[in-house]
Amino acid sequence: MTLGTHVAFVSVLYLGGATLFDYKPDWISWALAAVASLLPDIDLPPAKIGRLFWFISVPLERRFGHRTLTHSALGLAMVALLAAPLGLLNPLYFWAVMGGAWSHLWLDMLNIRGIDLFWPSPIRVVTPGNRNWRLEVGSKGEMILLSALLVTTRRSIRSVTSAFGMACRPCSRTSPSRGSNTSARRARTGTCWN
Ligand SMILES: [Zn+2]
Repeated sequence: MTLGTHVAFVSVLYLGGATLFDYKPDWISWALAAVASLLPDIDLPPAKIGRLFWFISVPLERRFGHRTLTHSALGLAMVALLAAPLGLLNPLYFWAVMGGAWSHLWLDMLNIRGIDLFWPSPIRVVTPGNRNWRLEVGSKGEMILLSALLVTTRRSIRSVTSAFGMACRPCSRTSPSRGSNTSARRARTGTCWN
C-alpha cells in the first residue's frame, strides 16, 4: 500500500481507539503512530522511508526480500524492543508505535501478495482469501479505500475532539441526556459539550 493509505488507516485506528480505550489523543502519539505505520517498508528501497534510510533498506531487501522480516511477528517484537524506552516516558507512546506498526501489516494483508507474518516460515498471510478481493498497490481499489479512510478520519477527528473536549468553544449549554459518564468526563476535563 502507499504511504497515504497507511497514514490514513492508522489515523482511523488511532482516533477510533481513543474513544474505545478512553485515552486522550495528542499530536506526539499520533505522529509516532503515523511514522511507525511506515516503518515496515524500510525493507523497500523505492519506498519513501526506504529512500530516506537507503543504507538499511538496500541490504535488507537484498538479504531478506520485501514483506518478510519487517512485516512479521519477529519484526514487531524488534519494534517493541526499540519502542520500550518510549513506554517509560508515556505508555501511550509505546502503544502508538506498536499499533502503527501492526496497522501496516494488517493493511498489507489486503494486498495481492500478502505478508510473511510468520517469517522465517514462508507461509503467506492474506485477507480476504479470495484473490479478486485483494488490492494492487496504487490501484483504483486502493484509491477508493484511501478516500473512505480520509472521510472516516475527518469524522473521527470531529467525534474525538467532541468526546475529549478538545478545541471546545465556551458555552453554557449542557446535555443531560448524554448520561453520567459523559457528565463525569466533562467535569474532569473542565470542558463543555456543544
Ligand atoms: Zn509494507
